[in-house]
Amino acid sequence: MATVTRSIEMFFFPFVGGGHQIPMIDTARVFASHGVTSTIIATPSNALHFQNLITRDQNNGLSIFIHALSADIPDTDMSASPFIDTTVLLEPLRQFLLENRPDCIVVDMFHGWAGDVVFELGIARIFFNGSGCFPHCVHDNIRSHVAVENLGSDYEPFFVPNVPDRIEMTRSQLPVFLRNRAAFSDRVRQLEEKSFGTVINSFYEIEPAYADYMKNKWGKRAWIVGPVSLCNRTAEDKTERGKTPTIDEQKWLNWLNSKKPNSVLYVSFGSLARLPPEQLKEIAFGLEASDQFFIWVVGNVLNSLETKEKESENWLPEGFEERMKESGKGLVFRGWAPQLLILGHAAIKGFMTHCGWNSTLEGVSSGVPMITWPLTAEQFTNEKLITEVLKIGVQVGSREWLSWNSELKEFVGREKVELAVRRFSEEAEKMRKRVRDIAEQARIAVEKGGTSYNDVEALIHDLKARKLANQD
Ligand code: UDP
Repeated sequence: MATVTRSIEMFFFPFVGGGHQIPMIDTARVFASHGVTSTIIATPSNALHFQNLITRDQNNGLSIFIHALSADIPDTDMSASPFIDTTVLLEPLRQFLLENRPDCIVVDMFHGWAGDVVFELGIARIFFNGSGCFPHCVHDNIRSHVAVENLGSDYEPFFVPNVPDRIEMTRSQLPVFLRNRAAFSDRVRQLEEKSFGTVINSFYEIEPAYADYMKNKWGKRAWIVGPVSLCNRTAEDKTERGKTPTIDEQKWLNWLNSKKPNSVLYVSFGSLARLPPEQLKEIAFGLEASDQFFIWVVGNVLNSLETKEKESENWLPEGFEERMKESGKGLVFRGWAPQLLILGHAAIKGFMTHCGWNSTLEGVSSGVPMITWPLTAEQFTNEKLITEVLKIGVQVGSREWLSWNSELKEFVGREKVELAVRRFSEEAEKMRKRVRDIAEQARIAVEKGGTSYNDVEALIHDLKARKLANQD
């Protein structure tokens, strides 16, 4: 078996940072662990963030490489924005593909332009959009069956038709491409439809009906291979994922070690979210009033502020951090946190999350129930999966889908934050039991013979069949 699969060579072309790059790197590592030769194509600046991780894999015998392209995208806090133009990478990519024709290339949807060059060269192109099956199915059905422009208001609820669960949404929660269909081309959908298939970071058991929907869609190939974050088995791998953490390990670890099991709320809004100072203050007041232990990773949120504001720290209520420190109630961190390690700590009781799909899967795989605070992308739809289908989270009450980098239309007030934390605490035990069962299913899915394991093998098999057919 090993000798046959060794002959399969896969390229992975992740987006330039954040929540799209991290899971694709893990996916490349998963395939390498199944005997494939995986090459991750990256910009020179970005490659630095995961070089150590890949070197460790190589030292452990995996056939995995990084190819740094000859063009670069400056590595700034903004470089992972979905709107960053990456077409400067086109020629170096074409050159690399001409010289090294792999059996397939997995391409992130934000590198939409790469579709044509891959197609011209006759290489199997596999689509990756970073989300699960549930939003795909929900959005397809809204697109086809709901006249959202005819709803009475942004807040008039409607049920999503043709889905096995009762999902109620409002127009205010929908991504702009679903609200204003005329203004958006179907380019991403076309890219997906013209591809060899789709690799999905999810696992069958978390969303079986929706996974079936994906597998049946246009008779298309869909391989569900996650949660890919579970390939990070050592503390080292969990620490250096995406970026090297900038928060002091001894500080957070000692602090968490001093807390009882299931007592601390982890608060993070992912790698990109930018919340204005007014909203940050409401979070701080809400957390303080809820009397809940917490670790709050503010991270990139601060990038929305002017340097002067950042330095003056006036985005937090006066004396907040000192009070939290003295009472031992909370820690506020600026920068990049080792999220997988924190979520895996026994003291963590819950995760206040923006419902990014990676954070959602990481929370689920760690057996941690959630407080959901969606902001953009497909996060409002993920919230429905978490709170209404799986019943492993409570909603903070965020209502407005926000286009990336635009101004918040309405704040979630401190009362709502406090109330959500208190409601969460009342329901945490029941939710924890449910999410731990799902976490166990996730663990089994990626082990030998599990659903995700088998889908990885199935894709390798399909690529071998294609290769053989092309040789005839
Ligand atoms: N992440 C992290 N440390 C941070 C912030 C984010 O490790 O301080 C990781 C997190 O574990 C996840 C990814 O960044 O894998 C964020 O992806 P997600 O889909 O949740 O949200 P996005 O950043 O794309 O909005």
